[in-house]
Amino acid sequence: MKATIYSEVWNLDVIFPGGSDSPELEKFLLETEENIRCFEAKVNSWEPQNSLKDTHYLMELLGDYEQASKKLTQAGAYIGCLLAQNTKDKKAYSLDAKITSLNAVFNTALGSLDHHLTLIDDDVWLQLTAAEPLKDLSFVLTENREKAKEKLSKEEEALISTLEVDGYHSWGQLYDLIVSKIKIPFVEDGEKIQLSVGQAFNKFSNPDRVVRAAVFKNWEQAWSNHADLLAKALNHLAGFRLNVYEKRGWEDVLKEPLRINRMEKVTLETMWSVISENKQKLVEYLERKAKLLGVKKLSWFDLDAPYGKTTTQVSFQEGASFIEQNFALFGEKLAEFTNHAFEERWVEAEDRPGKAPGGFCTYFPVKEQSRIFMTYSGTPSNVSTLAHELGHAFHSYAMRDVPFLNCHYAMNVAETASTFAEMIVADAAVKNAKNIEEKLVLLDDKIQRTVALLMNIHARFLFETRFYEERKGGTVSTNQINELMLAAQKEAYGEALEQYHPLFWASKLHFFITDVPFYNFPYTFGYLFSLGIYARAIEEGKGYEEKYMALLRDTASMQVEDLAWKHLQVDLTQKDFWEKAVGICVADIGEFLELTK
Ligand SMILES: [Zn+2]
Repeated sequence: MKATIYSEVWNLDVIFPGGSDSPELEKFLLETEENIRCFEAKVNSWEPQNSLKDTHYLMELLGDYEQASKKLTQAGAYIGCLLAQNTKDKKAYSLDAKITSLNAVFNTALGSLDHHLTLIDDDVWLQLTAAEPLKDLSFVLTENREKAKEKLSKEEEALISTLEVDGYHSWGQLYDLIVSKIKIPFVEDGEKIQLSVGQAFNKFSNPDRVVRAAVFKNWEQAWSNHADLLAKALNHLAGFRLNVYEKRGWEDVLKEPLRINRMEKVTLETMWSVISENKQKLVEYLERKAKLLGVKKLSWFDLDAPYGKTTTQVSFQEGASFIEQNFALFGEKLAEFTNHAFEERWVEAEDRPGKAPGGFCTYFPVKEQSRIFMTYSGTPSNVSTLAHELGHAFHSYAMRDVPFLNCHYAMNVAETASTFAEMIVADAAVKNAKNIEEKLVLLDDKIQRTVALLMNIHARFLFETRFYEERKGGTVSTNQINELMLAAQKEAYGEALEQYHPLFWASKLHFFITDVPFYNFPYTFGYLFSLGIYARAIEEGKGYEEKYMALLRDTASMQVEDLAWKHLQVDLTQKDFWEKAVGICVADIGEFLELTK
């Protein structure tokens, strides 16, 4: 055991001293803006020669890109940290608005750069990107060029961007506005109170079934009261998206989300089919859980119910050393890195008022350091969160020498390192459990996550694909939307539940997000992809770390199929890999069923 006491408060001053009033930050922001303007001017004055001579100018542009992008990311990350540690930091809000406007300028310039790339002929492009120094950047550059080619003309796309503000993103904002006003009545200690959506949602993990059932009844009613308005928002949001796709000549609604996640449709289909084939084991778990709760079948509101009443408390110091010890069993680099992160105060974990909720990990690319934010109150799930965020930080560390253009990984691989780190700690916790009760609580926690990713997310995916198909034929009524959701849930949960949640579509923000379409399947992909790598790590033992880090370095510059082939020698379009990954989940369930016989 370590004698050192780690600080629970992070050190941000090494990034910029003085918080939101920091003169260094102010100077840095001015420099960043100058870098962006310079990049923008250079992009706009570029006249491609359509020959190998373009290499020189393009490399210069990319150098400017790297500098501006790293600075912008660093400034944004710092301001994000300020806002999280003190939600009342007014100066930080105005700095945040500055970052938003700088981002807009930068993104427009990037769009313009991509358009310039399309002006180079295909054969010249191939020659350009096959040779040094552009070779290492060829995947991302070619991807950007292809994306630009698949879109409409520069002028038409600019018009779409303008119309999106009021005709697309505003539907998502309207959703947020409606939800912020929804109140859910609830009786607590004999007194009738009004819960916000977030507060009501938390009640679903209440150990008392009577509480959960009561909240659920009022929860469904509240969404039903607003369902017509929300259905209208969803219909128009989807209608806008479909119209743009049609104009661009894109027939499949999955085209864009698959491209963003750099994966083939057959990979997605294979993953879902393996999951469907293994649903029976998950159904058995839900049936057992029902028995343990003393009911015939579980209802929707039971899915997040905790198992048992164990309230083990783990101090931050204990949690930190438990993570360090178990990371060390996997690899030296991960253990050293984690120790460094604690020693250098990269973690903000103190339980105090005024902090933002939730947890995150953010990276400062100029300083090559990460910061982790969370509120540590001593629950076992806090230890998981801490391990999870350290996993993210390790991912950035593994990529620190990779060109910045090759560092922007998609959502489906973003959780690779975090899930991996969490698995190390979760498995160790189950193994070290003091008694069967504690072991079951920890196992149940793991399985609940599997149920969420293989059943709940599956329902979301089934619903969304079917909804978009219906929407192609015209507006879909509220009733029809409810029916689509109900059918999707029944299928995804293998008919294992007594009561479903047809208005789930209304209560889930993810269907109304306009930044990225299909905010669901990448979660499941990422989870199983990470479990597959974890299984490999266990097979190969300690020496696996080098290979693991090599995989992480490539996460943002390859198609996922190529990534898996290069580093794991597996074909993601075939079932084997997915079966192995789902097998890990099934094994947990097997153990749970055995222990609760
Ligand atoms: Zn994460």
